[in-house]
Amino acid sequence: MVLLIESYEISRETLLEKTMYLNFGINEKGEWQHVSTVNSGQTALVCPFCGGALLAKKGQVNAHHFAHQFDTCLESVEAAKAATLPTVDKFEMLNAKEQKYMDRRERYSSNNIYSFTGMYDAISDLEAMGLLKVEKSISQELSQCQNMLAGIDPTFLDDEYYPTENLLAIGDALRGFINIDIKDIWLKQTRLTTSINKCYHQNKLNKQHTISDFLSAQTFWLQAHYDKQCRLNPEYTKLISKKIEALSTQHLYLFKFKAVIDHNEVTFIKIGMTTRTAEERLSEVTCDLNKHVKVLKAEVLSYAKYAGRVEPLLHHYYAKDRFYLATFKELFNIEIESQLVEQFEVINKQSSLTPLKIRRNNSIKLPSYKKDSGRRPKTRKELINEYPEIVELLKLNLSIREVARQTGRAKNTVQRVRSALLY
Ligand SMILES: [Zn+2]
Repeated sequence: MVLLIESYEISRETLLEKTMYLNFGINEKGEWQHVSTVNSGQTALVCPFCGGALLAKKGQVNAHHFAHQFDTCLESVEAAKAATLPTVDKFEMLNAKEQKYMDRRERYSSNNIYSFTGMYDAISDLEAMGLLKVEKSISQELSQCQNMLAGIDPTFLDDEYYPTENLLAIGDALRGFINIDIKDIWLKQTRLTTSINKCYHQNKLNKQHTISDFLSAQTFWLQAHYDKQCRLNPEYTKLISKKIEALSTQHLYLFKFKAVIDHNEVTFIKIGMTTRTAEERLSEVTCDLNKHVKVLKAEVLSYAKYAGRVEPLLHHYYAKDRFYLATFKELFNIEIESQLVEQFEVINKQSSLTPLKIRRNNSIKLPSYKKDSGRRPKTRKELINEYPEIVELLKLNLSIREVARQTGRAKNTVQRVRSALLY
């Protein structure tokens, strides 16, 4: 069965965020707080990235989120982008370049893939996600060259024997006389042999057909995304793990309704997620439905603890079975009732249903095959070490603004140090 990407719509009833919104703020105690825990409007929370005051936007149309009271900081936008979750906010598990590499790699051996712009970054990402095994071998000539360079000046090469800024600067200085592209030499003299890990095929979304399948594939993709962001944007991983945590507390429910629509009796089902009990949620939904139709009967067919996180995948999978009624987006045709009930039974028998836990992978250190993707973001430790004066004042519980004023540092910097301390 093919997944229909276009027809999927994210429910506004859920607490879950639509892509690219900030959903967490930091309270006075320095704790992360989800938008669902505050009232709409002015809040006492600040942005985790710039320390700016936040407003809670809890309207009827968009998913609930926070907005900056004044200027939106670039970092929160970047963070929201980095925290876009696969299988929840989007259903393409890989970006275009990663997908291109995997598609080609399935057809050709790694030596026979013509390189394309961004290929090496894609390979690094795929390796970080655990989808690709990468072996690197360098030519004898490059190996000799590295030994000689290290002998002349050890600062020319980094720990992984890649050229440092010092060496690149020499290449730049001589550019008017000889044209040597040092990065290009490294790239051309390094051969990458890749192989696709089995988990890539096992967890492809178009191979999943049941709730149980979706639960395990989703666990895989969320972890893979987290691991990738640990490498690319370590400062945003806290937000990602908070989003996943919020998602993991959701339970999955299956309700059945009999109602009168235009003098006809119809039955339909609803698949949704909630943090409350099935009965509490059922009475709410019934109340909402009664505004549009006359509900004759409402019942809970099934309920699975901590399985709510697969709701977006189920809505996506069953998109063609949607039942259209007013603006409701989680209603489905009664034909799929029995298969869903069966699937709920299967997962409820698996006694291991607990909230999903993402492994904290602090040890991720992967070789990068290309060193030109910009400045590496500072790690938490580096930030803390670099700004001891900020750390000291923050420990006195001074406000971001005050610390910025006293140290003469940007508020953004103070906030980054603060986030690093909070981790
Ligand atoms: Zn901000």
